[in-house]
Amino acid sequence: MKYKPADNIQDLQYFGEFGGVNPSISDSSTYTFLSAKTMFDTFEGNSEGCYLYSRHSSPSNLYLGEALAAMEGTETANVAASGMGAITSTLLQLCQAGDHIVSSRTVYGGTYAFLKNFIPKFHIQTSFVDITNLESVEEAITKDTKVLYCESVSNPLLEVADIEALAKIAKKHQLTFVVDNTFSPLSISPGELGADVIIHSLTKFINGSSDTVGGVTCGSQVFINALRSVNDGANMLLGPTMDSMRAASVLKNLRTLHIRIKQHSYNAMFLAKQFQEDGLRTVYPGLKNHPGHETFKKMMNEDYGFGGLLTIDVGSLDKANALMELMQEKNLGYLAVSLGFYKTLFSAPGSSTSSEIPIEEQEEMGLGNGLIRFSIGLDNDIERTYKMMKSCMKEVGILDAEMV
Ligand code: PLP
Repeated sequence: MKYKPADNIQDLQYFGEFGGVNPSISDSSTYTFLSAKTMFDTFEGNSEGCYLYSRHSSPSNLYLGEALAAMEGTETANVAASGMGAITSTLLQLCQAGDHIVSSRTVYGGTYAFLKNFIPKFHIQTSFVDITNLESVEEAITKDTKVLYCESVSNPLLEVADIEALAKIAKKHQLTFVVDNTFSPLSISPGELGADVIIHSLTKFINGSSDTVGGVTCGSQVFINALRSVNDGANMLLGPTMDSMRAASVLKNLRTLHIRIKQHSYNAMFLAKQFQEDGLRTVYPGLKNHPGHETFKKMMNEDYGFGGLLTIDVGSLDKANALMELMQEKNLGYLAVSLGFYKTLFSAPGSSTSSEIPIEEQEEMGLGNGLIRFSIGLDNDIERTYKMMKSCMKEVGILDAEMV
């Protein structure tokens, strides 16, 4: 049967304590118990439905987690204060000193820096591989490997991971397969394709209003309980806790995600096709010549398209900067990092979100300094947007001024 992630969210029914159509927000950091015995049992993790302290869990965070778990088809989920809060806690929960991680080399710059510079302090090493080369993924696995890590669509190069094939490799070697699905919520459902743990930065499409950071780890009840354990749970002990007020507002935004993703994808597909026709070096998984196009197609929940991210390479950082500044002046979007906003956001990853990656490694992975990453907005008239963008490109000499 076709997987319907948005229907799963819609099917959840929540009421506030006074019958409100939104659940009440839990405005408490701590909770009372009618008996001391129940408090003890709750500490031991044996008291279903009781709350202890909001760093552990809170009703608002559980509601949001439940909705995200429904979307990803996992047993449950734990929300965190940021995407990095979810990623770092998850990896530290899964690994201990002496362990090894195999990761895609094209991942978000913060994740890369954590794996390359931070986690080795705990004697956890990472091998970075081309995730689209399944042979090299398997070759990198050692007897100490515990985790296979990738993004379903990578930041910023938009490489597409074959999640089904990678899940088979992970299973064969008894690894936990962790997928960051930030770039493709609803479009791709990694859990359905065999991933064990699915992570999102909620900061991006899921919240969609660029007013907060947030993250989530979706997985089995056993794993999420482990993350929250008062004795050795990384989320409980490192403390990247989302505030209840925020959890309530992210949940409200999540309910329009399916409509937004369709529009982001429609607009991005339109622009990608036009840019390509104009002769620009355009990368978008929806384009037939994208190396991951067929892989994306075979994995996707069709209704939601190929996502809102595309890149063009304009040859040099100077040209990229001139174009982005002009587009911002013409109110076509904002020169800003992040993604998933109603307005188009653009940035040059080589000097911003991926600047943690050394220049030689950027070059090796094909991240040129003229690369511009676009997170395409919800523009109502994308044809008008395209015409205005094209005129900016002519003005800064990226497109031939003679072109019609
Ligand atoms: N994962 C991806 C793919 C991202 O692009 C980002 C941030 O840009 C993160 C994780 C980190 O999320 P956050 O900024 O919410 O900590």
